Amino acid sequence: MKSFLFRLIHLPLHIQIFIALIAGSTIGVLFRLFPADPAGFWFDPMTWFADGSVTLGQVFLRLLRMVIVPLVATSIVSGVASAGDPKNLGRLGLKTFAFYMASSTAAIFVGLSLSNIIKPGVGVDIGEGSGISADDLERPGSLGDILMRIIPQNPVNSLVEADMLSIIFFSLCFGAALTRVGEPYRERVLGPIDGIFHVMMKLTGGVIRLAPLGVYGLIFRAVTTMDLEFFAAIGGYMITIAVGLSLHLFLVLPLFLLFLTKRSPKHHFKCMIDALLTAFSTSSSSATLPVTIDCVEHKVGVSNSITSFVLPLGSTVNMDGTALYECAGVLFIAQVMGIHLDLSQQILMVLTALLASIGAAGVPSAGLVMIFIVLDAVGLRGEQVGLIVGTMLAVDRPLDMYRTVVNIYSDSIAATVVGHSEGQIGDPREADAL
Ligand code: ASP
Repeated sequence: MKSFLFRLIHLPLHIQIFIALIAGSTIGVLFRLFPADPAGFWFDPMTWFADGSVTLGQVFLRLLRMVIVPLVATSIVSGVASAGDPKNLGRLGLKTFAFYMASSTAAIFVGLSLSNIIKPGVGVDIGEGSGISADDLERPGSLGDILMRIIPQNPVNSLVEADMLSIIFFSLCFGAALTRVGEPYRERVLGPIDGIFHVMMKLTGGVIRLAPLGVYGLIFRAVTTMDLEFFAAIGGYMITIAVGLSLHLFLVLPLFLLFLTKRSPKHHFKCMIDALLTAFSTSSSSATLPVTIDCVEHKVGVSNSITSFVLPLGSTVNMDGTALYECAGVLFIAQVMGIHLDLSQQILMVLTALLASIGAAGVPSAGLVMIFIVLDAVGLRGEQVGLIVGTMLAVDRPLDMYRTVVNIYSDSIAATVVGHSEGQIGDPREADAL
């Protein structure tokens, strides 16, 4: 027994996470088939404490969240400041945004084409819906509101409330201003921020070591609490989105990597596996960010000054999976309602889906909440829309897990492409030796 545990703990981390994923889903399925105790008490050691109200997954998510705000703020400031003169920064920013826009637009077109070809919503009868009201979802506000929220009235408040878009905006401005002040002020401010960033990365490394336990807990909960009732009714919609996400993940993004860097997509995938498995189990780009930075920096070999700029930004701004989902989801709703969206409406949908994916937070189900913006833009409102969105919410978890994987993968490719074009990337390492 002792040597089995010893060998398990000394396996490479991605294998441990993979084993945790299989164990969590298998035990979860068995638990559904043969329910043993209501809270899954014996299968989640964390529930032994605090009357079963704390789960292993929740503890892991909290640890990840604990590092996000200081990590993102210090990482962006030190990334921007180390980009050097404003010209360098402008070039880096331009390349990064160009990649984000190109990959998200490609994702939207995959979603749009598939939904127009498969037409998953035609003939679907939602009936009474899932009983979950779309009003249970917090509405995102208009695009104007979101744009205004990016500029913080008080940056300290943004930090306290972990409002990522405004933290990112302020950190970008702060970092840019830092490149323009002279010595000794620059070094006085940058030195400590850089120091905190490195300490946060160390701390993150410690949290990541716990990923196998966290992934086991999250997957076990996801499998045991998943609502299967509506899977059959709107299975076509789920399959369309899953196929679209797969095409983007395994075909479109690897092509971007291959054409823009000539690096092996297979090797890149292997390097990113820890982050992809974490994204899959947490459904949160923000929570996965520490693992993403770790993989892109230490396995893919992109320099710290690129990852600390491109990845925190990407985790909220660059969401290919979410953008694809917004479009496919809105078309599905229109099809269920028997409404034909003409070309001009579909173009409007593409633009708003892009903006909605930029505005979506990197947290579970954020994509579903943002769908209201796109629905509003094309004029889809009313009770039936609420009924359909409520049903989509009932089956959202597995789709959310998958689109988060795609979001993270796209961020990692953005960092690799920018790192490559700036000459800030090491030789591809042997993934097998990782
Ligand atoms: N959960 C996704 C993410 O964190 C966002 C979404 O719901 O699409 O990347």
